Amino acid sequence: MPQSPGHAPQPIVSRHVAVIGAGAAGIVTARELRREGHSVVVFERGDQVGGLWVYTPNVESDPIGLDPTRTTVHSSLYRSLRTNLPRDSMGFSDYPFVAKDDPDRDPRLFPGHREVMMYLQDFAREFGIDELVRFETEVVRVGFVEEEEKWKIKSKQRHKETDEIFDAVVVCNGHYTQPLVSHVPGINKWPGKQMHSHNYRDPKPFQDQVVVLIGNSSSAFDISRDLAGVAKEVHIAARTVKYETFGKQPAYDNLWLHPMIKNVCEDGSVHFQDGSFVIANIIIHCTGYKYHFPFLETNGFVIVDDNRVGPLYKHIFPPALAPWLSFVGIPFQVITFPMFELQSKWIAGVLSNRITLPSQEEMMEDVKAFYSSLEASGTPKRATHALDDKQVKYNNWLAGQCGCPAYGDWRMEMYYATVKGRLAHLESYRDEWETQHLVLQAYEDFI
Ligand code: FAD
Repeated sequence: MPQSPGHAPQPIVSRHVAVIGAGAAGIVTARELRREGHSVVVFERGDQVGGLWVYTPNVESDPIGLDPTRTTVHSSLYRSLRTNLPRDSMGFSDYPFVAKDDPDRDPRLFPGHREVMMYLQDFAREFGIDELVRFETEVVRVGFVEEEEKWKIKSKQRHKETDEIFDAVVVCNGHYTQPLVSHVPGINKWPGKQMHSHNYRDPKPFQDQVVVLIGNSSSAFDISRDLAGVAKEVHIAARTVKYETFGKQPAYDNLWLHPMIKNVCEDGSVHFQDGSFVIANIIIHCTGYKYHFPFLETNGFVIVDDNRVGPLYKHIFPPALAPWLSFVGIPFQVITFPMFELQSKWIAGVLSNRITLPSQEEMMEDVKAFYSSLEASGTPKRATHALDDKQVKYNNWLAGQCGCPAYGDWRMEMYYATVKGRLAHLESYRDEWETQHLVLQAYEDFI
């Protein structure tokens, strides 16, 4: 029977654990749980491993993603997408993401999306994860059964629903599927079309159109360049600039960067905060995503408020339900796969009693102190899980808990070299990598 954390060391035990999702987070979690001796079932509503990296040309029935009854599509990938980090930095610690000597594979340092999917599928095959996954099986409800102190999972395969009992549940359902849309004053009367980048696949339908993109993330950057090849005009409305300056973009004659949209009007015009305006056909919201756990029933112990999932101790355990409920992959602005690996190693060790968690009260105090530190530094609630510069400390803390080697310095050096490379070669940073010594360091580390 599960016991609460914060007690004296317990004997090492094996648990029956459900993992929701077979993306990068779910497959490495399954591996770590099994390595620790737990029995694992992975629920995956898709028909293959890879999650977000399984590209589909299909889009949702509501292009802006606001209709709750719309048909949903999991992946947010567009056809031209290449990684925004060098491949070596993305790989799991003991399964390097190196180029394969195979004409069917993409050897580039910043490969296309298919190569990432194939890497994840290779990983799943190598570690026998496929056999743990129930494909085309959607988790529709996860609830705690008080009397049994266990979790009941209701899943649906085609039309058949099944209830099963587990000691613990690890949520790995990804957070790039539920669109976040910015409010644009006057939008109800604006005659153009709107969509979210979640439903952007390729530029063809935008031939000769005037397109306005909202946001200045990697997606907005890539999609604007994709569109500039076919659209009449492309305008990006950004709150802040990271790598570029406002105005016409040097390498293009039809691409502009503007401050945010002030309002839009019935005559089709889109007005920017600097007083300029354009008459546009379509607005694409490249404004990110919301955390969404439609299946989770926790009696209020976990809520999503302004994109803060909480309370979560170290972005993973809700103190009141720890360690029987946990989340892998909540932080963003991180090098994702190696962080998933450390998070799931920690969860696996805690569930077997090899690693002890603080008491519920201590975890709650830690979360409150974390929230206060965010407030004191003026960090908005919606950025609670943005790690960026804080990721090294976070990963090293997790590694310390797990008793495994600290995070290789070369990974963060690659992360920062990418930022620098982007400043120097905005349009071609993926193909003008100048820090080959970091790749060599990565190889040495793997050996
Ligand atoms: P996902 O890959 O989204 O997997 C979640 C899985 O859960 C899916 O297979 C889904 O079908 C399944 N699922 C969801 N709900 C249920 C349910 N109820 N029942 C059963 N199954 C369910 N990261 C990088 O490191 N490098 C990059 O270059 C990079 N580029 C990106 C580009 C874009 C456009 C986006 C949106 C993200 C990018 N990322 C990148 C971040 C990326 O999200 C992570 O790399 C990673 O793939 C996330 O893995 P995940 O397992 O958390 O989620």
